[in-house]
Amino acid sequence: MVSNHARAAADCAGTRLQPEETLDPHDWEEVRRVGHRMVDDMLDYLATVRERPVWHPVPDEVRQALSTGVPLEPSPLDAVYDEFTHHVLPYPTGNIHPRFWGWVMGTGTPVAMLADMLASGMNSWLGGFDHSATYVERQVIGWMAEILGYPRDASGVLTSGCTVANIIGLAVARHAKAPFDVRRHGLQGRMAGAPLVVYCSSEAHSWTAKAVELLGLGTTHLRRVAVDAEYRIDLGALNAAIASDRAEGLTPICVIGTAGTVNTGATDDLNALATICTRENLWFHVDGAFGALAVLSPRWRSCVAGLAGADSIALDLHKWMYMPFEAGCILVRDGTVHLDTFAASTAYMQSQGRGLAPRPPEFVPLGIDMARSFKALKIWMCLKTYGLEAFGRLIEQNIDQAQYLGALIDRDRRLELLAPVALNVVCFRYRGNDGDDASMNARNEAIVFHLQESGVAVPSLTQLGGRSAIRVAVTNHRSRREDFDVLVQQVLAAGAQLGRD
Ligand SMILES: *Cc1c(COP(=O)(O)O)cnc(C)c1O
Repeated sequence: MVSNHARAAADCAGTRLQPEETLDPHDWEEVRRVGHRMVDDMLDYLATVRERPVWHPVPDEVRQALSTGVPLEPSPLDAVYDEFTHHVLPYPTGNIHPRFWGWVMGTGTPVAMLADMLASGMNSWLGGFDHSATYVERQVIGWMAEILGYPRDASGVLTSGCTVANIIGLAVARHAKAPFDVRRHGLQGRMAGAPLVVYCSSEAHSWTAKAVELLGLGTTHLRRVAVDAEYRIDLGALNAAIASDRAEGLTPICVIGTAGTVNTGATDDLNALATICTRENLWFHVDGAFGALAVLSPRWRSCVAGLAGADSIALDLHKWMYMPFEAGCILVRDGTVHLDTFAASTAYMQSQGRGLAPRPPEFVPLGIDMARSFKALKIWMCLKTYGLEAFGRLIEQNIDQAQYLGALIDRDRRLELLAPVALNVVCFRYRGNDGDDASMNARNEAIVFHLQESGVAVPSLTQLGGRSAIRVAVTNHRSRREDFDVLVQQVLAAGAQLGRD
C-alpha cells in the first residue's frame, strides 16, 4: 500500500523533471536595458521638475486604468514601464516641485533615489542580526543623536514616520511612568489603578489622539492645554492642569512638547517643560517632526533650545532632511527603559552566540515593526555625499525664505499674516477689500484650490481662530526666492479675480 506521503513525494519528483520557476529574468540583458532607461528617465524627470505644473488632477481615464483586476498573465517589462510613464508618473503629489509647500512634505534627493534602489536590491532585513545594514542603521541613529545633542549611546530606531516614532515614545513613557506593570496588566482591571494622564498643547499634532487611543489611555486622559498668542503651550495652564489632576487622584505621566507645530511652526518652551517634568516626575517627550532639525542652523537653533533635555525625541527625516518617504526616527535617552518597553523573548529569535544571529535582533524590541526595510541607507548615503553642513545651510535657507515671504505679506495691505512667522511656516490670508470672516474664509479657500488646480503652487489650508489661512511650510531644497514672488503675485491675482466673480 502506497501512503499519501509517498504518493506526494512521487508527484513532487515528477514535477521536478520540469525546470523550476523563478522571478529572476530569463534574459538579464532586457532588464538591464529597461533598468538603465528607468534611471535615465527619472534623472531627467528630476532635472526638469521646475518646468512642469506642481500638481495635476488625475483624469477619469487614468482612474479607470488604475482600477482593473489583478493581472494573471505576464506582460513585458517594457510595456508595464510604459503604463507607469503614462498613468502613474504624470500625476504625482507634487512635493518634489520647487513650489510645493503644502502640509509638511520633503522633496527627496537624487542620491536618496539611487540609494533606495540599492537598498531594495540588497533587500536586507533590518530587524537586526549581524550584517552590514545593521551597522549602517546603528551609525545613522548615532549621527541623529549627535546632531540633536543627545548622548552618543542614546537608544533609537528608524520608523516609517513621526506618527509611529511618537507613538513609540509615548509607549516608553507609559511603561516608564505607570506606577504598575503596564506590560503585564494593561490598563484593564484593578491593577491599573488611577487613570494615567498625558499633556500636550491644543496645537499638538493629531498623532497624540491616535496614540492615547492605541495605548489604551483614552482621549479623555489627553489634556490639550491652551496656547499663548504665539501658539506655544501656556505654562500656567499646564501647571494648573497637572495640579488639578493630582488633586482628583489621577496619575500624570507625560508632557509632550512640540518643536515646530504643524499649524504655525511654533515651539513650546522646552526648557520650561523639562523643569516642570523634573519637578513633577513626568516623562518629557518632544515631537520634533520637522522643527527638531532647526538645530542644524546656527542662526535659528535657539528657536528649539532645550530639545536635548527631553527623555525622548521623535523626528522625521522625510520632511526637513529632504529624504524620500519613509524615514522617521525615535531617540530615547535611557536605552534600558526603551528596550524594557518592548523586549520579548521567543525561541526562534533567541541569540545563537555566533553566526548570522549572534544576539537577539536589536531593532525589533525598540519599536512595533518586525519587518523593517533598509531605509538607513538613503540617509547614510545622503549625509556622506552632501555633508551635514549642506543640510544646515538648506534649513537656514528655508527659514530665510519663510521670513522673506512674511516680509512680502507684511508689505502689502491686501495681505495679512495670521500667525507670527515661526521657523519655516507662514500662515496668511488675502484681505482684498475686507469683508466678514466667513466671506474671507470662502475666498481664501478658493484661492488655495485655484493655486493647486492651476498647478502654479501648492500651499495648503488651515484654520486659525476661525479664520481660514493659506499655509506655506517650506521643507523644500528646490525653492528659490522668486518662487515666493510668484506665490504672492498669484494669490493677489486670484484674490482680485475671485472678488469680481
Ligand atoms: C508631520 C508631523 C507628524 C506626523 O509625522 P508623519 O511622518 O507624517 O507620520 C507629527 N508631528 C508633527 C509636528 C508633524 O509635522
